[in-house]
Amino acid sequence: MNPTIEQQYVALKERMERAALRAGRGVDDVHIIAVTKYVSVQTANEAIEAGVTHIGENRLEGLLEKKAAIGNRVTWHFIGSLQSRKVKEVIGNIGVLHSLDRLSLAKEVQKRLVEQDGTLDCFVQVNVSGEASKNGLAPDEVDSFIMALAEYDRIRVIGLMTMAPYTEHAEETRLHFKALKQLQQRIADKEYVHAPCTELSMGMSNDFEVAVEEGATYIRIGTILVGNEQVSE
Ligand SMILES: *Cc1c(COP(=O)(O)O)cnc(C)c1O
Repeated sequence: MNPTIEQQYVALKERMERAALRAGRGVDDVHIIAVTKYVSVQTANEAIEAGVTHIGENRLEGLLEKKAAIGNRVTWHFIGSLQSRKVKEVIGNIGVLHSLDRLSLAKEVQKRLVEQDGTLDCFVQVNVSGEASKNGLAPDEVDSFIMALAEYDRIRVIGLMTMAPYTEHAEETRLHFKALKQLQQRIADKEYVHAPCTELSMGMSNDFEVAVEEGATYIRIGTILVGNEQVSE
């Protein structure tokens, strides 16, 4: 028999806790986001029954479908690249945006937040590895980007997010996670009111243990938690 989602959640938490302990960290400051982009509403609900309280989607359609069925029992995270024309619908339906990566997007987010009379917690996405296929700012652009965000008073920069290059050898991702941690700490030390930047969104199914060892506070887990129902396509 395949393991249940609950068993996978328990196993994930154990691995996460061991990684945190190895790094001398507490486990309470690492949050698991179940990434449900590959799976059905039913599977997402099983994850919630198992104890998941954060759900991540990377497309507007998936977000709206899951949100309509599940509602506000969980915190919703948008983890995909966001086109400006989809901002209005996305931000009304989420608690956290992980992919803020350009001022034109910030401007649109600000405009919609003013209309909706809201504020939004955001991660600034950074392309630490420099891979051409990855979204995000270059590390040396991050300081000036965050300073420029001070103008958009509805946006709160809670941290930095990255995706490491895929590898079978998770250890190879360590330098990228270390680099993001350093950058995050440097910005946090500036104590910007609009950008406390205390959080790090990094680590996926194949590399989350290294990410936790290096300081992740949000890990984004799809495959090993809820599965990947489209894997056979
Ligand atoms: C799909 C996705 C994940 C989860 O990936 P898994 O390898 O299935 O855990 C995490 N972060 C982002 C940005 C994603 O698009």
